[in-house]
Amino acid sequence: MSDSIQYHLKVADLHAHQFEITIIIDAPKPEGQKLSCPRWIPGSYLIRDFAKHIIRVTAEDGAGKAVLIEKHAIDTWFVQAPPETLVVKVLVYAWDFSVRGAHLDHFHGFFNPIVGCLEVEGRTENTCLFTVECPDSKPHWQCATGMTPLACDDRGFGQYQLSNYHQLVDCPLEMGELSEFKFTAGNKPHRIVLSGVWQGSAERLLNDVQRVCQYLQNWMPDPALDFNHYSFLCNLTDKTYGGLEHSSSTALMAPRKYMPASMQATVTDDYAVLLGLFSHEYFHNWFIKRIKPSQFTPYRYQEISLTQQLWVFEGFTSYYDDLSLVRSGVISQQQYLSTLGKTITRYLMGPGQQVQSVTDSSFDAWIKFYQPNENTPNTVVSYYIKGALICLCLDALIRHHVGGGKSLDTIVFEIWKRYHTGGVPEKAIEALIGTIGGPHVTAFLEKALYTTEPLPLAECLAILGVRLDLSDDQKKSKTGHSHGLLLDSNGRVLTVLSGSAAERAGLASDDVIVALNQQMYAKDILDALPSGQTLGIHFFRDGILRETSLVAQALPKTVAQLSIGSESKARDLVDSWLN
Ligand SMILES: [Zn+2]
Repeated sequence: MSDSIQYHLKVADLHAHQFEITIIIDAPKPEGQKLSCPRWIPGSYLIRDFAKHIIRVTAEDGAGKAVLIEKHAIDTWFVQAPPETLVVKVLVYAWDFSVRGAHLDHFHGFFNPIVGCLEVEGRTENTCLFTVECPDSKPHWQCATGMTPLACDDRGFGQYQLSNYHQLVDCPLEMGELSEFKFTAGNKPHRIVLSGVWQGSAERLLNDVQRVCQYLQNWMPDPALDFNHYSFLCNLTDKTYGGLEHSSSTALMAPRKYMPASMQATVTDDYAVLLGLFSHEYFHNWFIKRIKPSQFTPYRYQEISLTQQLWVFEGFTSYYDDLSLVRSGVISQQQYLSTLGKTITRYLMGPGQQVQSVTDSSFDAWIKFYQPNENTPNTVVSYYIKGALICLCLDALIRHHVGGGKSLDTIVFEIWKRYHTGGVPEKAIEALIGTIGGPHVTAFLEKALYTTEPLPLAECLAILGVRLDLSDDQKKSKTGHSHGLLLDSNGRVLTVLSGSAAERAGLASDDVIVALNQQMYAKDILDALPSGQTLGIHFFRDGILRETSLVAQALPKTVAQLSIGSESKARDLVDSWLN
């Protein structure tokens, strides 16, 4: 008899994209054993109902005799008077090409245990033994995960041990033809595992990522992170992009063109984004994987867990991800300012920043930020972007009003010291910032968090030695907006921004623009239209050809350009901020 819950993962059918998970429960509850499938995955605040990917659940006893298992809710199964050893088999359809679910084909397998490893009621804190089998038809495949191996072969297949169910569902795995690159940071083994088809210099990526990890490990005060090893599982794709943080690993997806060409190549915008993704998920080791809102301690996978604090966890992380790149020397100050300028542009360009506060955005993430529609830019502010810019302002204001070498870093260190083991109550971080920052900082934060008043970006950047110039050159912003229209390459309207010329012209999402001034639609014609001029537009709505005119209006100055200030001390200020 064992207290541990055993989970066994095998490929059931590569062609049909099916994994099978066998769950062995010794001594289940005699009065009846309940099992449930999580409805969401931590780090991605949306009810996903992973049970929808489950094709079939069956049960048997230790000798293989069938046992009745009944469904009691969309995500729960129940076995009345279970046998001494209860074996439950779950067949999962794995065709979710994202960092959040499971995906399986002839080329690779990706599996988040949260998809099919059911939670056994009353046994969440028990240790778990997880076994992963190599598919017979793929004897050359390898397997990589952040789990701790117990008895594995040198390709990573075999048995792993997890201290409880929370740790199990926090450890995705990747199987396939993998390329592994090892390094050490903070005296702990790390590795980058690349899957998918890719070209370029993995050695360069390894060097740069190691520098960032080492920088962060040195920079953060004790206690050190409590993992024994850390894995970046990165699938290089055509276009898919995303990342999800875990306690001893991260699952990343990024376009293969983001890879660096060579050891010597200059950092392209794409490569800077890739490095930012690695850095972002690594920073989450501190912010959200260990310091986390008290609503997430413990995670309750069956219900929405509301908090106003997502701006803290994604905001601090989004501020420090790129800052760590420049401070560790993998990108230049110029590149950093260019990236920060783009973040400011995205904040200013979205009408949603005048409608929703960042704390409301955090609270409503489950129904708004994570369920975007054509009107989202008009009504939702990103707690990533505004959160990061609040951090920028805090960094400047603390340096200016508190002095004595204090900065936002001081706050980060204090948060880590105080909350590395426990949940953070609502408003606790604000109180801590107020205590260290004093009245000016408190007054700023109150407005920044609970109102839609614009952030004092120019003033704060000036404190840091940086000049902010705003222009209406929307082409430069690369956001693709033109007169308030965001279109796909076929002229289909995706979004119409509030208050724009496009909105006044009566255009709406899903309209298909076919002609501009009697000429076949081309986006260049729209982009080139000067203020005050009128453009005739033919478009289809609901299959009927319609006509309207768009009168170009003066564009708002929302495109940010940052440069080092002209004052003599500006250079020193920038250096003390970015070095
Ligand atoms: Zn994040």
